[in-house]
Amino acid sequence: MKFIGAHVSASGGVFNAPLNATKIGAKAFALFTKNQRQWVAKPLDEEIISKFKANLELSEILPKHVLPHDSYLINLGHPEVEKREKSLNAFIDELQRCDQLGLDKLNFHPGSHLKQISEEQCLEFISNSMNEALRKTKNVKLVIENTAGQGSNLGYKLEHLGYLIENSIDKDRVGVCIDTCHFFTSGYDIRDEKSYEESMKNFDTIVGFKYLAGMHLNDSKPELGSRVDRHDSIGVGKIGLETFRLIMNDERIDDIPMILETVDDTIWKQEIELLYSLVQK
Ligand SMILES: [Zn+2]
Ligand SMILES: [Zn+2]
Repeated sequence: MKFIGAHVSASGGVFNAPLNATKIGAKAFALFTKNQRQWVAKPLDEEIISKFKANLELSEILPKHVLPHDSYLINLGHPEVEKREKSLNAFIDELQRCDQLGLDKLNFHPGSHLKQISEEQCLEFISNSMNEALRKTKNVKLVIENTAGQGSNLGYKLEHLGYLIENSIDKDRVGVCIDTCHFFTSGYDIRDEKSYEESMKNFDTIVGFKYLAGMHLNDSKPELGSRVDRHDSIGVGKIGLETFRLIMNDERIDDIPMILETVDDTIWKQEIELLYSLVQK
């Protein structure tokens, strides 16, 4: 079964996110558990936590179908030690917030070398940061998102994700999130059945479907391999609807949160309906 939703607003408090998900007919959702553009946030208090849990129960969405996203400021592979540590501390705080909310995943972008260190060095820093976060937290899975490879962002090759999993000290607490737009613009063709199967086979060999913990469903404004990160609404971009039909009927992708981050949030409800209509009985 597929669990589709969107990255909904948590403005006014995290407890509003499940209600916003319900409004668009979502069976999954993503959220920021704090302001994503600020380093520090007020700790979650008991009242907020219990309100979130109550609303989540009302929404009938299971905690495992919620995919929190971390702050954009965090760079676990930052070339400078102080900034890397600042990122790690913020990352640990976010993992703890997820745990407090009863959620079992945190989605993050691997990191950027900022053209100051090699890709290999940056990946090693990211891996070390992840392991330190695993040591200092519990319960929550670190879900690495593939990227478009814009600028100096790592995670645009399946090998990067494979490396981070391979070097993890706790493989039960690491996973990946495949963003279809990033996947496509980083060079993996998925536009028809043949190319889709080939790219997914690559994914299975280099990363492994057992690590697939979530997906971001986005069409793409830029071309294949452009390494530019610009999402489009489902079916109208350079990827096209056929890919989403293949995904919706792919049994290897069952029971994980599948999240829209498409550009027009006023049509999320229709996009969710459209995706479910692609399922062949
Ligand atoms: Zn994404
Ligand atoms: Zn993106």
